[in-house]
Amino acid sequence: MPVQFPDFRLGSVLATSFTGTLSERHGEPVERVPTPRRLVDWLEVYGLTVASCTAEQLELARELRESIHAAATAAALGDPLPASAVQVINDRSVQGRAAAVLTPEGERRWRLGPDSRVEDALGVIAADAVEIIAGERDGKLALCASPTCRAAFFDTSQSRTRRWCDMNTCGNRQKKARLQARRRGASGSAG
Ligand SMILES: [Zn+2]
Repeated sequence: MPVQFPDFRLGSVLATSFTGTLSERHGEPVERVPTPRRLVDWLEVYGLTVASCTAEQLELARELRESIHAAATAAALGDPLPASAVQVINDRSVQGRAAAVLTPEGERRWRLGPDSRVEDALGVIAADAVEIIAGERDGKLALCASPTCRAAFFDTSQSRTRRWCDMNTCGNRQKKARLQARRRGASGSAG
């Protein structure tokens, strides 16, 4: 039987979707890129196709992921950015060799370096993180309201009042919990 890996949670913002490959950080964490192959698959979804991935490169990716998470969380809270996280993000950004290219249809594609290394893909993700943390893009960093999640997400809603990192998971779960609490409350007062 093939091994079942946790599904990806795919958001529209590259950097925070990447940090979302580890979810439920404050509950029972779910690692969504448990193997180098899974990281290759994830990168592919975002148009960052790499030739291969080693265990060391997966570690590098996870280090970047946790650094983006730490810096984005600090930015969302208005706290000073952790220096070590900033260092990792900058190192990955500098060492990537990807270029943005335009397709004949007018779409942006990423062209990684000549050997399509994981480092090139991480450079793109790091640069995306720099943009959203530095406030260069229209939107606001916020933290998921779920106490077991607290993921940093990029709110691009008009009112900037989004509460959940993901409506289908955290948002839904919270809605169900509220509903159950109300039902319990109702049956309690009836009895
Ligand atoms: Zn969440």
